[in-house]
Amino acid sequence: MLSISDVSFRYSNRYPMVLDGISLELNDGEIGVVLGRNGSGKTTLFKNIIGIESPTSGSITFDGVDLSTISRRERAQKIAYVPQDIRFGSLTVYDTVLMGRVSYFGFKSGKHDQDVVDEILCEMGLESFAARNVQELSGGERQKIAIARALAQEPRMMIFDEPTGNLDIANEQLIVEEAKRVAREKNISILTSVHDLNLAMELGDKFYFMKGGRIVYSGRDEIFTVENISDIFDAQIRIVDIDGKKVIINSKGDK
Ligand code: ADP
Repeated sequence: MLSISDVSFRYSNRYPMVLDGISLELNDGEIGVVLGRNGSGKTTLFKNIIGIESPTSGSITFDGVDLSTISRRERAQKIAYVPQDIRFGSLTVYDTVLMGRVSYFGFKSGKHDQDVVDEILCEMGLESFAARNVQELSGGERQKIAIARALAQEPRMMIFDEPTGNLDIANEQLIVEEAKRVAREKNISILTSVHDLNLAMELGDKFYFMKGGRIVYSGRDEIFTVENISDIFDAQIRIVDIDGKKVIINSKGDK
């Protein structure tokens, strides 16, 4: 379980706080979605969790262990991060996914590492891609490979920064389904940012609305109200019911 307690963070003493008193808890197998306008602090929060940055105050623990007290390698075995700008070397899909296990094997992979990669490629329907160079793949395929590489880390938790950023609708659905499958079948918790509000509701169990470095609203999907969304995004929206499902639509320009 991830537990973030009263975390504040600034990039330097000359700058104001970018995270201001953030607290949240995420259980194993749960999907938490962080929403907020650009610059509200989502990526900075993720960087603090994975240890690229360290909180100025407050604490982040995983299963009761303070993440700032363990090595990078140990942290990589608990938490896998898929950043917004995925960078791959010029490797095959197989070797790219295998690199996810580097915190386990260090220099040379063993039979077990290869078995883990084979299983993940099979589960994700990627076997036929194994020998392809990742540089040749489409955006959706690369996103899937990035998730496969994160899974090869055999983490307890995955963090995705905008996983559906540049994807078409079919690939968006694919990533949402894949994330849900992983959370349910492997009991891995997922914390992700998503821009699209409807996609967020589709994906998440819990939601955190951020503004100016603070979590202003949190809870289940009951927090998707016209008032809260207008407050966070400064946008004009309507919420309609379609076949029993809450759908958010842009109402700017409506009479
Ligand atoms: P989001 O992911 O919600 O778009 P970010 O966490 O990227 O927000 O940014 C939050 C704030 O932190 C912004 O005001 C941004 O300008 C600032 N910021 C981000 N990275 C740095 C950095 N390396 N140095 C200084 N300020 C930064």
